[in-house]
Amino acid sequence: MLRKKIIKNRKKLTDKPKITIKKDIVAPLQTVKGMRDILPEDWRYWDFILERAKKLCQAYGYRQIETPILEETSLFSRSVGEATDIVEKEMYSFYSKSRENLSLRPEATAGIARAYLKNGMANWPQPVKLFYFGAMFRYEKPQAGRHREFWQIGYETLNDPSSVLDAQVIQLAFKIFEKIGLKNLTIQINSIGCPECRPEYQKLLKDYYRNKTNRICLNCRNRFAKNPLRLLDCKEEKCIQIINGAPQSIDHLCSECHNHFKEILEYLDELELPYTLNPFLVRGLDYYTKTVFEICPETGPFAGLALGGGGRYDELIKILGGEETPSLGYSMGVERTVQEMKNQNISVPPLFTPKVFLTQLGESARKKSLKIFQDLTEANIKTGESFGRGSIKSQLKVADKLGVKLALILGQKEAIDKVIIIRDMKTGMQEIVRLDKVIDEIKKRLKNI
Ligand code: AMP
Repeated sequence: MLRKKIIKNRKKLTDKPKITIKKDIVAPLQTVKGMRDILPEDWRYWDFILERAKKLCQAYGYRQIETPILEETSLFSRSVGEATDIVEKEMYSFYSKSRENLSLRPEATAGIARAYLKNGMANWPQPVKLFYFGAMFRYEKPQAGRHREFWQIGYETLNDPSSVLDAQVIQLAFKIFEKIGLKNLTIQINSIGCPECRPEYQKLLKDYYRNKTNRICLNCRNRFAKNPLRLLDCKEEKCIQIINGAPQSIDHLCSECHNHFKEILEYLDELELPYTLNPFLVRGLDYYTKTVFEICPETGPFAGLALGGGGRYDELIKILGGEETPSLGYSMGVERTVQEMKNQNISVPPLFTPKVFLTQLGESARKKSLKIFQDLTEANIKTGESFGRGSIKSQLKVADKLGVKLALILGQKEAIDKVIIIRDMKTGMQEIVRLDKVIDEIKKRLKNI
């Protein structure tokens, strides 16, 4: 009987999902729900954000890290928390061919904490400061500012308990948005205590909710049983009314958490950063202790929606099997930041604007053109071309559209004579120059235009 059962189960494990392919079906043209192509137009924004964020992170002592997109599922259930929305409902988890339970990363902190342990970073000079940029995956309901694949830029400071670091992490987060040009942002901040004081607060919260469970949403009833702190995060109207009367964690902090929080607020005052105490801010990940914060637009379509968020996670590395390693971090969503830039009409430079356009006519000129194009780009002259087009007229049309200052014209005769024509696109004036002098001549002209 048992043997039969084992064999039956074994069959189940090795069973391939049945895929029926209908004949005559064309290849799918849609992306998977909640996932998008990031087109070159968008990359103008992405590059703009990434370049500024990267420079600032480096200036604040962070070094880049990339962890795998796939990790063992247990990494996230142990760190983000079994009873969080992310782990309960939002992970893309599956069994690999060798039966490992794997998940696409829903966030980066857990992977970085794992990397800290795996790579013996405790032996590096402390604190270890790392930043990252990459795609995260959460099976959420797609809507404005919420996708199933989204990108984050973030940073982590591992192994430093001081409140000045909390303030610096917030300072940097705000600075990145400032450098991007965003205005009207506010920092919401709260302290959710530590293992010392939080259980007492959670008990108070449960006591408060106990006779109200018939008035809260279904999700909150689940939170009441499994993760009471998350009750404070509900966005349902009927629950918000109850949240407003709930006890607040900042009134029930132990003296260490209280002082830590007070010091952070003093640093933020000193930095003149715009912050608001939000006593109901808890965030969606269980690993947080003490400080939690979010940065949101104050007005506009994304008012109150977090562009970025972070906090302290003093227990995380211990939970994963390491030593006491008080740490903290932050991550910002790239899609939301791009959208907010558009909401605030922040323009970004085009990705590539050629200053010079190389045209050619005839077989031997085209052959030479490839080398000339290479020489121009190596000399840092932004050069456009349309080698596939035949006539000079059609190539000059493209040059005109691109708004280049100078066009270079290489015909059969010029190719033989080792010269090239430089045409000023504004005046239409043309001049023949020797090929070996063309780079110097262009540089001179571009400087004078
Ligand atoms: P979290 O990892 O939940 O702390 O989120 C940090 C930031 O990532 C948020 O403030 C958002 O900007 C962004 N983010 C989180 N989830 C999503 C999502 N589903 N779609 C787009 N951006 C997201």
